[in-house]
Amino acid sequence: MRDFSKSCEWLSINTATVKKQWSLDKIIDECAKRNIRSISPWRDQVSVVGIERIAKQLKSHSMTLSGYCRGGFFTAVDAKGLQEARDDNRRAIDEAKKLEAPCLVLVVGSLPGALAGAASYKEIGLAREQVFDGVAQALEYAKEVGMPLAIEPLHPMQAAERACINTLEQALDMCDALDPSKGGSLGVALDVYHTWWDPKLKEQIERAGRNRLLAYHVCDWLTPTKDLLNDRGMMGDGVIELKKIRGWVEDNGFAGFCEVEIFSELDWWKRPGEDVLDTCITRHKTHT
Ligand code: ZN
Repeated sequence: MRDFSKSCEWLSINTATVKKQWSLDKIIDECAKRNIRSISPWRDQVSVVGIERIAKQLKSHSMTLSGYCRGGFFTAVDAKGLQEARDDNRRAIDEAKKLEAPCLVLVVGSLPGALAGAASYKEIGLAREQVFDGVAQALEYAKEVGMPLAIEPLHPMQAAERACINTLEQALDMCDALDPSKGGSLGVALDVYHTWWDPKLKEQIERAGRNRLLAYHVCDWLTPTKDLLNDRGMMGDGVIELKKIRGWVEDNGFAGFCEVEIFSELDWWKRPGEDVLDTCITRHKTHT
């Protein structure tokens, strides 16, 4: 297992972690100042500053991406909605390509309308079919342009609103069905927040192997969790066995960035961005 105790060479910051404090250009500068050499930005943050400017700024700092957030949300109530989702995913792939991301992360979506408070239908099986078709179509284009897609299974508490793929096993089943060659064009983004509890986690990480493990996201699970979306903890403050899980992914060939992704309405988004980044660096060294 790699030794993270002395440097932040393998630390990446998912830019949602300080999105309430700073715009993306400021986040990039603050990361560069601290020798953080990788980030994973969100599309809305990129579009506020402008993708050309962000691409240039990343180059000038020799900063790379550990992923691009995000594509997905493939489900819809009618054909028009499905088409819009497909078009949007094509744009996300183009943006990821422009920023030279190693993969586009997919949060696949679930019951259409549920996120806004009123699901248009209740058949989660149908949502899964639409997701399967959506990923298949996105993959066709992604292969053409050479942009790997990383399906991120989300914790089952998000099964209605955000993702009907909730375990690593389910994500890998889809990968195997759509990309049996395991050539690296389709894989998973493994986020410990969503998967730490899974009794099959170790065996499914082994199944994923090097070609399917495209991104690794960390934070911690607080007890009690006060908000289902935005109460993620800083590494070391919760109950996730972070070093054990990193050991499993590295034993299976993952050698990429450890991406810190913390949505924290109640705590970290309220602190000065400088403190958040400095704490990410310290905890990366001691607790991940
Ligand atoms: Zn994640």
